[in-house]
Amino acid sequence: MGSLESPRTAHGWAAHDGSGILSPYEFPLREVDPDSVEIKVLYCGICHTDLHQLKNDYGMSRYPMVAGHEVVGTVTKVGAGVERFKVGDCVGVGCIVGSCQDCNACTGDMEQYCSKKRWTYNDVFPDGEPTQGGFADLMVVDQRFVVTIPEGLSLDAAAPLLCAGITVYSPMKHFGMTEPGKKCGILGLGGVGHMGVKFAKAFGLHVTVISTSRSKEKEAREVLGADDFLVSTDPEQMAAAAQSLDYILDTIPAPHPLDMYLPLLGMNGKFILLGVVPAPLQFVAPNILLGRRMIAGSFVGSMKETQEMLEFSAEKKIECMIETVTFDYINEAMKRLEKNDVRYRFVIDVEKSNKSA
Ligand code: NAP
Ligand code: ZN
Ligand code: ZN
Repeated sequence: MGSLESPRTAHGWAAHDGSGILSPYEFPLREVDPDSVEIKVLYCGICHTDLHQLKNDYGMSRYPMVAGHEVVGTVTKVGAGVERFKVGDCVGVGCIVGSCQDCNACTGDMEQYCSKKRWTYNDVFPDGEPTQGGFADLMVVDQRFVVTIPEGLSLDAAAPLLCAGITVYSPMKHFGMTEPGKKCGILGLGGVGHMGVKFAKAFGLHVTVISTSRSKEKEAREVLGADDFLVSTDPEQMAAAAQSLDYILDTIPAPHPLDMYLPLLGMNGKFILLGVVPAPLQFVAPNILLGRRMIAGSFVGSMKETQEMLEFSAEKKIECMIETVTFDYINEAMKRLEKNDVRYRFVIDVEKSNKSA
């Protein structure tokens, strides 16, 4: 502490161009300033957003890019001003690692909507250095953007709660989807969608999964607890389910016609976009007007809400269904994620990867 230490190096996996192919990459670790903590990464989930960013789907990617924003690790160092954490604490980091702390969003505990928020990766610190995510062994993060992992959660299966979990929990709280008996559709049963089923069931909702094929039906009903399952490519089934839902959480990551799904909502139904679709979405106005339906969007959740979601998950025993992998499998995992071939989240075992390297 306070000594003159030489800069430390973090070891991660980075993409170097829009091919998105990852390879081992070393970079200087940031110094631990008074407000930061150093975290040894234990597990990091692979979100579809990582795939979008690594492949430059939005045309805004900076390389070399160390992705990963579903991070669980242990604190290895704390800055002089840090009181909330101590060495050895088990902590999590999600999609953002900074914000202005001054605007209405920040002072109202909604810093995820701050226009100056800093992304966990693919962004820059005020000194111009790039932010780098959890596909690495170490991170240095502002304590305000670190949460505590409550006891009782498995650390690997908890990692995706930091993005996929909070992404569904926050709109459920905000849009009143906590009223037992309300009917909720989960559109797309992937990493975010399967968390949607679990949280919706924990809030007592009636859950209908809307999926592109029958292949996930048995598991959706028997393991995840869904009440109903609709195959979106079956027009008869879709027509029979017209006006049956109060809410739809749309997690589809690719362009899709909203007009297929909007008629599933009853009067005042809410269609909440969560997928970051890299192209304009289309719908015809009558599908909104005739039924006073609403299309809204939601982005992760605040730090306060993330902590609350983690406590709720520990209490209700909500964890993600994961396939654990090591870094040497990461490019294969990315290919499989792109092909919709994962049930339902890959999580990188970072410590094991480093031991076997
Ligand atoms: P994922 O694991 O790949 O799941 C997406 C699911 O959507 C797939 O499992 C598949 O479900 C369905 N799907 C995929 N391609 C489709 C297509 N072309 N047409 C129709 N359905 C399709 O992805 P994820 O990690 O859950 O992320 C989903 C989206 O949410 C991404 O765009 C991601 O960037 C975004 N996201 C947003 C936030 C936020 O804060 N708003 C946070 C995290 C992620 P079925 O097999 O059931 O059809
Ligand atoms: Zn994510
Ligand atoms: Zn702000």
